[in-house]
Amino acid sequence: MEKKDIDWGNLGFGYIKTDYRYVSNFKDGKWDDGEITTDDKVVLSECAGVLQYAQTVFEGLKAYTTEDGRIVTFRPDLNAERLNQSAARLEMPTLPDGRFIDAVEKTIKANAAFVPPYGSGATLYVRPYMFGSNPVIGVKPADEYQFRILVTPVGPYFKGGAKPIVIKVSDFDRAAPHGTGNIKAGLNYAMSLHAIVTAHEEGFAENMYLDAATRTKVEETGGANFLFVTKDGKVVTPKSNSILPSITRRSLIQVARDYLGLEAEEREITLEEVADMAECGLCGTAAVISPVGKINDHGKEICFPSGMEEMGPVTKKLYDTLTGIQMGRIEAPEGWVHEIKL
Ligand SMILES: *Cc1c(COP(=O)(O)O)cnc(C)c1O
Repeated sequence: MEKKDIDWGNLGFGYIKTDYRYVSNFKDGKWDDGEITTDDKVVLSECAGVLQYAQTVFEGLKAYTTEDGRIVTFRPDLNAERLNQSAARLEMPTLPDGRFIDAVEKTIKANAAFVPPYGSGATLYVRPYMFGSNPVIGVKPADEYQFRILVTPVGPYFKGGAKPIVIKVSDFDRAAPHGTGNIKAGLNYAMSLHAIVTAHEEGFAENMYLDAATRTKVEETGGANFLFVTKDGKVVTPKSNSILPSITRRSLIQVARDYLGLEAEEREITLEEVADMAECGLCGTAAVISPVGKINDHGKEICFPSGMEEMGPVTKKLYDTLTGIQMGRIEAPEGWVHEIKL
């Protein structure tokens, strides 16, 4: 297979149209067989449920080339599970068993020429999504849905090394208790746009959201979970019903325990105790871990001992081990690395 003529090392994180995408429609209570198509346009009624009441959910994962030349994805079974949980919460149909992974495989295989080569730092970002497609004007779930997968090659998240970022404690809330913060839905992002634009204008890279009820506990950022390292070397991540269960964060906890022999714990973390942490990072598919050097809490600065020059030592070990597992340099736990057979 001939790769596309793309300058892989200089790609950004933007949409580039590829040759194929996957489409399946839900109608009369069932999903059709689904197919790969070249048509990148979605034609909808002006009154489609997604346009009126934001009935849409999505996933994000990546396909990449391992050291020994295989095209793989990372734990897509967890994305499949999470998409169904998100869909169920918004009264959307779930996908039948096996459908998600089959569709991901078909889409990546069709676009294999767009999967960046090993060592380029670039990956093929895979975006599965589902939305209500028939006209809805009274407030109720749609009757018809479309499930699609698009892929787009994206550049290395960190160009020239991962520099720690500065974030702020936000005055906006991301998710309500018992709300939709624990599902991957566009609505959680729409309401975060004003907060992130405001934070950027003030010179911060991200927002730290607190729990909406008491504003004392750490939740997450707009699109990544927090991970902290305590001064005695324990890995801790916030536990909350209103944060998105990040697959990267869950994997890092297991890596900390099983590969690095560290204690790792998911528990409530107060903003107050953050000042005592040794390291802080943001975890998600895109960057794996972005180190945080400083948090601004209404003018009061929390500076982590790991500083503003590089990742903290434990964060670095976690990052190197998980990326090593993903790229095939370190043996993966059973089922973590899913090969796309061409
Ligand atoms: C997608 C997402 C994450 C990261 O999840 P991963 O499965 O690790 O990619 C974290 N928080 C939010 C709000 C997200 O939407």
